[in-house]
Amino acid sequence: MLRDTYLEIDLDLLKNNIQEIQNFIGPDVILGAVVKANAYGHGAVELAKYLSTIGVNRFLVATLSEALELKAYNVMIMGHTPDRLLEHIVENQIIQTVFTLDQCLKLNELGKKSNQIVKVHLKIETGFNRLGFQIKEDLIETIHDIYHLDFIEIEGAFTHLTLKDETSDMLQINKFLNLMKDLEKIGVHIPIQHILDSIGMVLYPDYHLNMVRVGALIYGLQSEERGVLKVKQILSFKTKISHKKVIQAGESISYGNRWVAKKQTRIATLPFGYADGYPRNMYQKGYVTINQKKYPIIGVICMDQCMIALDEDDYSEEEVIILGRKVNEMTVEEAAHLAETNKNDIVSRFSLRVPRVYVGG
Ligand SMILES: *Cc1c(COP(=O)(O)O)cnc(C)c1O
Repeated sequence: MLRDTYLEIDLDLLKNNIQEIQNFIGPDVILGAVVKANAYGHGAVELAKYLSTIGVNRFLVATLSEALELKAYNVMIMGHTPDRLLEHIVENQIIQTVFTLDQCLKLNELGKKSNQIVKVHLKIETGFNRLGFQIKEDLIETIHDIYHLDFIEIEGAFTHLTLKDETSDMLQINKFLNLMKDLEKIGVHIPIQHILDSIGMVLYPDYHLNMVRVGALIYGLQSEERGVLKVKQILSFKTKISHKKVIQAGESISYGNRWVAKKQTRIATLPFGYADGYPRNMYQKGYVTINQKKYPIIGVICMDQCMIALDEDDYSEEEVIILGRKVNEMTVEEAAHLAETNKNDIVSRFSLRVPRVYVGG
């Protein structure tokens, strides 16, 4: 390992999380594992490799580049792939989300050229207003036409909830289900219908349909107030002290001399910063944990380093926990709260220069 700062990912906890989710959804619902953004920072290639050994065999990503990394698996792109890149979809047998007739015609042409059936999932607009076929008079006919293209297989259809409240969510769910019913009436059967992400899956167990798209919960990141599953955060962020010194009263730390010592202070420099994904706005809020004791980050957080105030003990060889799940360690949940963002944002920021170490499994 080329750095002392690293992410430790516990595959045994990951397995427990998967089992919790599978028990909750039951054997008839597909667990679509959302591994976009490098598996929310956890390392998509490694995680897919492990997950595929414990019965997960459908992976969902956002972009073509992410899908190509996982092309050995059953992988689906939930986002847009530009027309000029659609040939890669066909070539690598990736499942593509579509939301226009034109995309389907192009994929059909490419499929015809290489004599391959291209699998697509229709994204249906029900209120999020991001991507999706808008539900209008002619949509049924459009989908009917797509259904009958020779080299297109509509494997699935889905929508995404805004999660504003139950009334609004049910409105979206019903729009989607009514469309599916109308399609059945004209002989268009779509086998894999799905609506729910992690939060939705917990909130609306009656609407798991054929598949759920689960990201956050796999990594043990559960909405505290809406959580019912016994999942655990699988990631810890760790480092080691790189330098120690004593500074005198009146001396200062980091950019702008913003932190000034009131008395003689032992400080330690730590080799992580905001370029590793640690939120820069943790200034005056962040802390790390050594031997189960909290030490505040002092001064402005730099791109690659930051400083903490120590007490009298010598900690040179000790592990420094930046994020963890044990006593007095900052959880991803707390980091999200302190950095005024959400948990997915905290973990998906971890940059590529941070080594990932996998334990267990
Ligand atoms: C990212 C994403 C998900 C997963 O969301 P979580 O809240 O992490 O479970 C599901 N569906 C779509 C369309 C997504 O983009």
